[in-house]
Amino acid sequence: MNSTPHVPFLDLITPHRQFEEDFVAIFRTALNRAGFIGGPMVEDFEREFANFAGTQHCIGVANGTDALRFALMAAGVRGGDLVITVPNTFIATTEAISQAGALPKFVDVDERTYNMDPAKLQQYLEQECQIDPADGRLHDRETSRPVTAVVPVHLYGQMADMDPILEQAQRYSLLVIEDACQAHGAEYFSKQEGRWRKAGSMGDAAAFSFYPGKNLGACGEAGAVTTNNSVLAKMVYMLRDHGQSQKYYHRLEGYNGRLDAIQAGILNAKLVHLPAWNQQRRLNANRYLDLFASLADSIVLPFEPSWSRAVYHIFVVRSQNRDLLRQQLESANIGTGIHYPIPLHLQDAYLHLSHQAGDFPVAEKACSEILSLPMYPQLSEEQQHTVASRMMECVQSTVPAVR
Ligand SMILES: *Cc1c(COP(=O)(O)O)cnc(C)c1O
Repeated sequence: MNSTPHVPFLDLITPHRQFEEDFVAIFRTALNRAGFIGGPMVEDFEREFANFAGTQHCIGVANGTDALRFALMAAGVRGGDLVITVPNTFIATTEAISQAGALPKFVDVDERTYNMDPAKLQQYLEQECQIDPADGRLHDRETSRPVTAVVPVHLYGQMADMDPILEQAQRYSLLVIEDACQAHGAEYFSKQEGRWRKAGSMGDAAAFSFYPGKNLGACGEAGAVTTNNSVLAKMVYMLRDHGQSQKYYHRLEGYNGRLDAIQAGILNAKLVHLPAWNQQRRLNANRYLDLFASLADSIVLPFEPSWSRAVYHIFVVRSQNRDLLRQQLESANIGTGIHYPIPLHLQDAYLHLSHQAGDFPVAEKACSEILSLPMYPQLSEEQQHTVASRMMECVQSTVPAVR
């Protein structure tokens, strides 16, 4: 086994080598200006990222969780509301919903894309909600709380099926806030509009994370809200900066949720390369698909619908013998991950939502079978061959057919 080369799950060292000089220059600029928070480097990045995402506004914030919380609050989600999302996401999605004062309401996902199933959304809205004649708003029958927003998560770098989600949202006057934290540059072909749309440009607002491991990552914490709504954008500007409309004039209580200038400078230097990096991830994904073609009976491979151009933040396969497969890959020096092992509705943090196993069977089954393989732009062909040959050996020796 010692002869097997190491294939790390993620490599955050190699991609930053080319930027050392740039990053030092950015640090020097910040030192010379004593501009550490906000300022021209943040404004430059906001303009460039809005341009990248295809939106009119981008507001840099401290991290992706803040981005989601500010987007929800600025869009008008209030204390006591229900906000619909999926159970198989990172907990930041539901933390932001709760921190905005609302209660998360889960609907199950599609078994092939792992994203929100529009049919399940429709079923919930039609069968478990009703319009209250008193206020004309949609209410959940069981809790009588108003249902005010939907948060589709573009999981693993692939957009949720937005046309039918937006259609349902429009029918019931729900806000749509995209969790685009894993989907920088992902695209969706909207039949409604007859054109490709970027992640973060389709809802009322969207949240991005620039956590180091994301497709676009800072060298620390960072995030952004994108939107085409200038009123919503102004509210996010205030929320990130203690509710100020100008210095020491507080229209409301906000937060300390601003973006550092140095992180913005770093992000701007890296953003230029993001389209090429995403393209390389897609090439790597296609190479994996070719290499794994003969395993298609035992391993479920990622599914990209014709309306999707995914950016493969994470490359996820499924196996009924996931834990054994993982163990064997790890012992062969191949890094893997599980995104995520326990669905949110079964986490201790959400005991108060009174869910039980079986409530969201598609998400639950996925959680027990998914395995994330090494995926990044710098992953070499040789490394992918190493992963593939190990997978071949493991699957042939241990894994019975799925289905
Ligand atoms: C990373 C992530 C977040 C949160 O971003 P942070 O920058 O870590 O706060 C939210 N949602 C999803 C789906 C994520 O992957």
